[in-house]
Formats: sequence, structure tokens, C-alpha cells
Amino acid sequence: MKAVRYHKPKDVRVDDVEEPRIEHPRDAVLRVTSTAICGSDLHVYNGLLPQLREMTLGHEFMGVVEEVGPEVTNLRPGDRIVVPFPMACGRCWYCTNGLPNSCANSNHLHGPEGNVLKGKGAGLFGYTDLYGGKDGGQAEKVRVPFADYGPRKVPDHAKDEQVLFLTDILPTAYEAVRWGKVKEGDTVAVFGCGPVGLLAQRLAKHMGASKVIGVDVQDYRLDMAKRLMGSVTVNADEQDPDDFIRGETEGRGADVCIDAVGMEADRNLLEKVGALVHLQRGTMKVLRHCFGAARRGGRVSIVGVYGVPYDNFPLGQFFDKNLEMKGGQANVHEVVDELMEMVLAGKLRADDIITHVRPLEDAPAMYDIFNRKEDGCVKVVLKP
Ligand SMILES: [Zn+2]
Ligand SMILES: [Zn+2]
Repeated sequence: MKAVRYHKPKDVRVDDVEEPRIEHPRDAVLRVTSTAICGSDLHVYNGLLPQLREMTLGHEFMGVVEEVGPEVTNLRPGDRIVVPFPMACGRCWYCTNGLPNSCANSNHLHGPEGNVLKGKGAGLFGYTDLYGGKDGGQAEKVRVPFADYGPRKVPDHAKDEQVLFLTDILPTAYEAVRWGKVKEGDTVAVFGCGPVGLLAQRLAKHMGASKVIGVDVQDYRLDMAKRLMGSVTVNADEQDPDDFIRGETEGRGADVCIDAVGMEADRNLLEKVGALVHLQRGTMKVLRHCFGAARRGGRVSIVGVYGVPYDNFPLGQFFDKNLEMKGGQANVHEVVDELMEMVLAGKLRADDIITHVRPLEDAPAMYDIFNRKEDGCVKVVLKP
């Protein structure tokens, strides 16, 4: 079958590989009908996360069940499912205490430390050997471990594009606003107008925010924030976003700042800096803005991916301003059902951020275009 394989930084190819098989009684094999490229796939693509061997990428995918192991009694061949991107057993301490994204049984490097190279959380599909080393879903087929726990069935009437983003970016955006405790009347500033940032802006409105401010450096993304999400926008290359946000909030700052950038593999950044230490400095910028632009007693919510320790963390400012902060990978399993209901009831849409739908074979070109932020690219869906 065809699969999108990571070879080395900036080198992904569509290769012929062996089809996946049931390896464990709780496995399912899925025929993928739609899969998306995620901003965090670019961290692997750009070599920000180390990966030495080839692997199939992709953690945002859905499709039709082809085969199930003997312990998967809730799914049948022919069922359409979406699959949360963290792999979770549903039985360990973490899974039974509301933290399936920290599942102890899906990643051989799992542990309590949360270090750069060990003590990680749950395994993630197609997301390097640090996160379980399991092949992802940018392929014609994928093996889904713990298939009796993670996957959610999709009714026939729902289109792929309507529900595909329940795998990651919609729950991630939802976690961003939940962690920020967004409530009626809040002003919410969202740093990053990529897919997660855009959807976080929409969900902040859903939760009653009276003003949402989108921050980015790409005008085409800011246009989308304005046009689709009804946000006020500021281009951080042209104007200091902290000043702008204070100007929109009687000088106080935003009630909630959301970091939907993280260690973003930004082209300008990568061109300017090669050394890891410089990269760290570069990525501190977004978090500094969140701390700077939040009001005293405000909340900072981080869903952009960070991978390494950072020097000069603004702890003094955090303390002085009485800030609250929470971040991490989304707990997809915990929120996916609620979001599925909203989507199926027509109360929430996410498919309007899709800018490119292409055959799987186009993956290498689409990684390049998405990475360079060319062709107005916000979200790519691949069709195997
Ligand atoms: Zn993703
Ligand atoms: Zn578990």
C-alpha cells in the first residue's frame, strides 16, 4: 500500500510499504478515507523532533474499519470511525483518572519526568520514536491499537471533512479555551491563526467571549480570522501585539491569552537561526507575549507544541501579575464526544478552514507548501 514516509528532515516520500495487520487482540485495521497534515507534523518534518528511522506520518485520520481483533467488540468491519491522536489503553491509572493523553501503556518511553528524551506521555500516531514509534495514518491503511477504547463511530450522513478534525485540532482548540476558563464577556487573545488558533477563536466566541483578537504574522491567516471567526486581528510583524491588545482592553490586557504557536517551525525563524539555543530564544517570544498581553490575574493557555527546556522563562512576570497557566497535549478522549455532538447538531463547524484537498500522492509537495506557508495554505486534507 501507499504511505507517507518520513525519511529525513524535509524529505517525506510516498512509498510502497507492507499493509498493517492485527498484531494484538485490541487492534483494528482501518482503511483511511481522509487524513490531514498538522502543524505539529512540521516539527517532525523540520527535524525539531529527532527521528532516526523512517516512519509513516500522520495522526489526524479517519476511515472505514476493515478488520478487528477478537477483543474489539464495539466495532465491526464497515464502521466509519475517527481516531483520537493520543493512543490510550482506557485501563491504566492515567486513563481512568481523566488523563488518557498520559496513558502508561502506549509509549515505551512513558514516565513521570516529562524530559526531552524520556518520561513522555501517551504514544501518538506517526509522531516519532519518542511518542511510541507507531506508524501513522497518512496511508491507505493504518493499524489502530486499543481500538475498543479510542475510536468514535461516525454516522453515515456526516461528511469526512465535517468530523475529521475531531481527531486533533478541534479538541485541541477546545482544550485551549477550556484551560483558559473562557467565560461570558471575556476578551481572548489567540496567538497563532493556524488551524488550531482559528478554531480556538471560534470556540472562544461559543463560550461567550465578547471580543476575540487573532495574532499572526501572515496576512492571509489574519484575513481568515477576520472573515470566518469574526476576530479583531493584529499583524505582529507590523505592530506590537501587547500594545494592540492593551489598546483593545482599556489598557488592562486580555482576560485570556492562548499560545497556539509553540515552537512553530516558522520559515523566517529557521532561516535566521540554526543553533538550538537560538531557536529556544526565538520561541520564547510567543510565551513572553502571552504573559505580557494577559491582564493581571489573567489566564494563559498553551496548546502550541514545546519540546525542550527554555532559558529565561519569565517567572517573575508570571508571579507579579498573578497569572494562571496550563498547557499540554489535548485530552482528546475526554472532549471528543461533546464536540462530536456539537458538530453533528450543526452548532460547530471546522471544515471551512480547509484550503487544500489533494490525493495522498501529493503529500511531499503539500508538506513543502504548508511548511513554506505558500498558496494561502492553512489546512491540507489528503485522500488516499
Ligand atoms: Zn495534529
Ligand atoms: Zn492507559
